[in-house]
Amino acid sequence: MKDKKVNNKLKGIFIAFVAISMVMAVVSQLMLFSVTKLYEGSIANRLEERASQYKKSFLFKIQADLQILQAMAGMLQVDPQQAVEKLFIGLKQANETSDFIRLSYFPNETYGYCVTPQQEKMQTIQVDQTPPELQYVIAQAWQKLSICSKVYYDPSLGYNVIAYTTPVYTEEKVTGVLASFVSTEVFASIFSSISSGSSLGVGAILNSRGDIWVATIPYTTVGFFSAFDSDRLPQDAKDSLAKALNVISTEFFHFKSNGNTFYACILPMGIHDASIAIVDTAYGINTNVIKMVNRVQVFSVSFFIASISFVLIAFSSARHYNKHLLQIAYRDKLTNAYNKDKFLQLLRERTEKDIPCSVIAIDIRKFKFINELIGVRQSDLLLKEICTILLKNIQQREFFCRDTADTFLLCLNNTDNERISQRLTAIFAEVDKLFDTMHPGYPIYFYSGVATTSDCTGEDLTTSFISCVMLALSNAKEQQRTYISFYDAEIHKKEKFRTYIENNMDRALKAGEFKMFLQPKVNLKTGKLSGAEALVRWIIDGKQTVFPDQFIPIFEQNGFCVQLDFYMVEQACKQIRQWQEEGVTVVPISVNQTKLLFYEEDYVQRLCAITEKYRVSPRYITLEILEDLALTDVQKLNNSIAQLKEYGFSISMDDFGSGYSSLNTLGELRIDELKLDRAFVMQAKTSKDSNQRKILEVIIEMAKKMNMTTVAEGVETADGEQMLKELSCDYGQGYYYSKPIPVAEFKDKFLVENS
Ligand code: C2E
Ligand code: CA
Repeated sequence: MKDKKVNNKLKGIFIAFVAISMVMAVVSQLMLFSVTKLYEGSIANRLEERASQYKKSFLFKIQADLQILQAMAGMLQVDPQQAVEKLFIGLKQANETSDFIRLSYFPNETYGYCVTPQQEKMQTIQVDQTPPELQYVIAQAWQKLSICSKVYYDPSLGYNVIAYTTPVYTEEKVTGVLASFVSTEVFASIFSSISSGSSLGVGAILNSRGDIWVATIPYTTVGFFSAFDSDRLPQDAKDSLAKALNVISTEFFHFKSNGNTFYACILPMGIHDASIAIVDTAYGINTNVIKMVNRVQVFSVSFFIASISFVLIAFSSARHYNKHLLQIAYRDKLTNAYNKDKFLQLLRERTEKDIPCSVIAIDIRKFKFINELIGVRQSDLLLKEICTILLKNIQQREFFCRDTADTFLLCLNNTDNERISQRLTAIFAEVDKLFDTMHPGYPIYFYSGVATTSDCTGEDLTTSFISCVMLALSNAKEQQRTYISFYDAEIHKKEKFRTYIENNMDRALKAGEFKMFLQPKVNLKTGKLSGAEALVRWIIDGKQTVFPDQFIPIFEQNGFCVQLDFYMVEQACKQIRQWQEEGVTVVPISVNQTKLLFYEEDYVQRLCAITEKYRVSPRYITLEILEDLALTDVQKLNNSIAQLKEYGFSISMDDFGSGYSSLNTLGELRIDELKLDRAFVMQAKTSKDSNQRKILEVIIEMAKKMNMTTVAEGVETADGEQMLKELSCDYGQGYYYSKPIPVAEFKDKFLVENS
């Protein structure tokens, strides 16, 4: 899960970085876009300004030419008969102030005369043989209009020309038409006179079909060259041009050619279908703006690149850092194998997906000793080599980790015990072989615990899995040499119970959950109650009764039995005191004493303190001790017994005959009572002539001779009682009389009667 979290975080950071860089990119693009817009707007203004300037100059020129022609027509008006001679003179005069290359006079609608400066003679021309453009303007002049023609090619002049026509009046009647002609080259010179564009810039006057009338670049004056035939114009530019030439508004467009961006402005002239086209590069249009725009472009591109680089660097260092963190978080420093956290994470993923597997905990037997044997460095090497061997032996989807020093956890795909054993044995053999090269002749042993998915229960399967494995491992520890222990649910149950007991014993003692039950001890001669044995019961939450067999052995191991036994003595004394106060005739109570008590320095003093606290005579308390206590130090035990007896306590030897009873020891101990073990008594009961019965008889007799009373445990039937009577046993205790019962019940059943 941690991995996922880290990856999600990383993804989050990545998305944030991408978002930031996108915002930065958008901002820089917006900047670029708005500056470009500004820039294009400025270019369009400049181009339009220039085109308008041209238009003005062209129109001015046409106007001026027409005015000269009209002035000449005025002179002809005086005497139309002299028109032809005047034509000569007029042409010569006009030539000084205008660019006319020919003058024509038409006294009627069918023919006329024409004069060319280079020619001395006048020529006659037929109107219907002139170009249609000229015929049109002649016809317009007869209609009283002064007008200029479209550009057309005049074969007689060998030029592309413009013709002007104006009516000649005689007494306010049109009596003729005067025409003049100029070469289009004159108009081209207007372009060059006011051009301020770049070397790549072009100016031209075109008609709606794209025929170039006048241009700054070399163009043919013999017939027309269409802009649409130019191979310098790309198709998109031709399309935009075609559109612009056929509308009456000013149009702008830009296109790319030979690696340059060209901007174009198409401005209608207002004469025929002519338009002025100005095409130039940005540099030819507005150098300052371009410089500024370029700076902004460079800035925004650099800003964009810088932000992307920043994002990439930041992201890659975040990745690197995360990788490093993951390494620290999930790898074992020494072996570089996974650590337990990572192992658990992988195992959790597997259990969540319900994929069957087994988990094995492997431990090296006596690793501490190996450490001393081969030294720390070699031991470290051994651990690393074990990881290499494990890595070599695992299959797809299997994994392992080094848990603690010499403990490894392994997850295998197998769930069948035999196959798991085979694989583990092979691994152990490989490590053993390796260890033989490190320290020849010294074998290495392992112990391992195995659990499979089917062993896991509960909500947290991973935790359950590991606790099963660890339990199996602790079970394996108890065996010798290399041993593989498979998880056993029964053992686990006991372990769990043990854990519960150990975790709750102190609380239970304080909460009074340990209750004293009493079992009567009966005088076999009189059949009367002679005493009671205090037996503890753990009543959990007032519901569940737990018997001493289940917890006394644990308390013996962890030492808690000392506290419990003092508590039981106190309970016995408290009870006796209470009964005495109630006026009930009391009987002595026997309390079981763990041998641990005899190692307590102040054991006797503490017992006395309890009897004193409740003002109970110690003669009401019998202490049941176990015979194996005498095996350690008879002298010391006798000293304690002597002290206890001095205060008035009685001493009983419990479970006599169940262990390694030694008559010798018995002879050395100064005890008051011998409690014959239940099993021992039961065996004697089977046959009258059995050796067991003879032994029992001898022991009872011997006890008598040693001034000890005898108590038989486990009297369950009348026959049993009968046999014990025959054997002259003094007292009997067992289910035949009563099971151990709560104090109140004991009082009601036995004491009240007795009183
Ligand atoms: P024990 O001292 O030998 O106690 C006698 C056990 O035999 C008792 O089991 C009792 O219930 C059982 N018993 C009595 N009569 C019969 C019978 O006729 N037939 C059968 N089958 N069993 C009979 P319990 O109470 O479960 O105690 C078990 C053992 O736990 C005791 O054995 C004693 O060693 C220990 N124990 C009990 N209470 C204490 C205690 O307060 N302190 C210490 N240290 N040990 C205790
Ligand atoms: Ca006992």
